Amino acid sequence: MAASFTVPSEMVKPNLSRTINHADSSRSLSKPGRAYIVASMMKRIVIVGGGAAGFFAALACAEKQPDAEIIILEKTAHFLAKVKISGGGRCNVTHACFNTREFTTRYPRGQHELIAPFQQFSASDTVAWFAANGVPLKTEADGRMFPKSNTSQTVIDCLLGRVRALGVKLRPNCGVESVTKKMDGGFELTLSNGETLAGDQLLLAMGGCRTPLLGQLAVSLGHTLEPPVPSLFTFLVATPWLRELSGVAVELTEVSVPGTKLRERGALLATHWGLSGPAVLRLSAWGARVLAEKNYQFMLHVNWLPLWTAEKISKEFQARQQNQPARFVVNAPLFPLTSRMWEKLVVASGAPRDIRWSAFSSAAQHRLIQQLHRSEFPVTGKSLNKDEFVTCGGVRLREVNFKTMESRVCPGLFFAGEVLDLDGITGGFNFQAAWTTGWIAGRTMAGGVEAHSP
Ligand SMILES: Cc1cc2nc3c(=O)[nH]c(=O)nc-3n(C[C@H](O)[C@H](O)[C@H](O)COP(=O)(O)OP(=O)(O)OC[C@H]3O[C@@H](n4cnc5c(N)ncnc54)[C@H](O)[C@@H]3O)c2cc1C
Repeated sequence: MAASFTVPSEMVKPNLSRTINHADSSRSLSKPGRAYIVASMMKRIVIVGGGAAGFFAALACAEKQPDAEIIILEKTAHFLAKVKISGGGRCNVTHACFNTREFTTRYPRGQHELIAPFQQFSASDTVAWFAANGVPLKTEADGRMFPKSNTSQTVIDCLLGRVRALGVKLRPNCGVESVTKKMDGGFELTLSNGETLAGDQLLLAMGGCRTPLLGQLAVSLGHTLEPPVPSLFTFLVATPWLRELSGVAVELTEVSVPGTKLRERGALLATHWGLSGPAVLRLSAWGARVLAEKNYQFMLHVNWLPLWTAEKISKEFQARQQNQPARFVVNAPLFPLTSRMWEKLVVASGAPRDIRWSAFSSAAQHRLIQQLHRSEFPVTGKSLNKDEFVTCGGVRLREVNFKTMESRVCPGLFFAGEVLDLDGITGGFNFQAAWTTGWIAGRTMAGGVEAHSP
């Protein structure tokens, strides 16, 4: 990982091998008595997880409540590691869709729950926040929004710079191993170095619980985990002619899984392991649970020409029979299929390579139309997409109040980001959920918003 976002030592509070009380964290004041009073009133907010959600929560909290002591505990040496690698190193910060209802339709899990949060902090608020903090965003043709700089480092520098300016305490290499709720309402955490740390309010923003063990902190405080399974993955397909097309993309296809409601339109990419591209990734997100139940062994149907009806294709074939009877069928691709793709589809339909339009029987034409509209591929497994993947599953949504991001089970406990059972399709939706839920949790913890509401 690039050293450029390792936190300098002066930002890191030294590890103390003892319980830290509130009085320890007082900010320097001239009179000891006053220092004690202010310190004892000062709220300590502990954030577990130095990712997008944890940072945005810290910023929102510190901006609203400069007197609070805010600590981000990160188990690795690096903050914002996923931001760094996201979007192929460019960080797809959000999506240029500024209608809240429409925005939420991009979340296979959390669609309903995220309506109220996005009304509080939406994609346009994200754009405005980053612009105001020196990171203007640009929109690509498909709606994805990236920093104009084209590098995720700008986002990291911005977030780190802002938390430093606000006095948030950053503690890398501080994994939280366990947590208990204290009788007085606060929390006591045990860190990976043996230290115990007390806090008045606690935000769990540890990212996706890829294994149930990663969700244990939430479980130990009374929460339930929806079982984790991957989302946003690509399909392993062994069909030889498809693999020979590795690298070929088709702009618009329709993919579906027979026997389910899963159906998606979009670009499809043949790879050396099978099928990828936006249509497959979206299908994997919406079908994360169903496909896991099938152990990733299922039949995939691909319609290579979803905008062409069988009648339209049939008419085109007749025209070719009349206009170019001597031409080989394999050499006359239908728009928008490439010649390589067309050739494979013709052969896969059972037609001989040397068949000419004049000799192309109606039965053979019918078989080719079937192949164009419903190629069948046995999927034998999944492979995680190297660009983006998230976890389906996590803290059960109905156990959290999405107006405040506070737990309904354990007052004073908050959640933000992927630790929750919410995830979006590709395109910037996962970061937007992290910014929004982090921002709301931070504002609530800062006070002024009615926490503890049912
Ligand atoms: C390769 C890749 C590329 C992606 N690209 C994009 C993209 O371009 N756009 C998009 O919208 N989404 C993208 N995503 C998804 C996005 O990165 C996540 O949804 C987002 O990072 C979630 O933010 P978070 O703060 O909830 O969790 P995270 O970013 O995962 O941060 C959680 C942090 O908590 C720390 N932690 C965990 N347990 C503990 C503990 N016990 N104690 C202390 N610290 C702990 C972790 O080390 C981690 O740093 C991508 C994901 C991947 C894997």
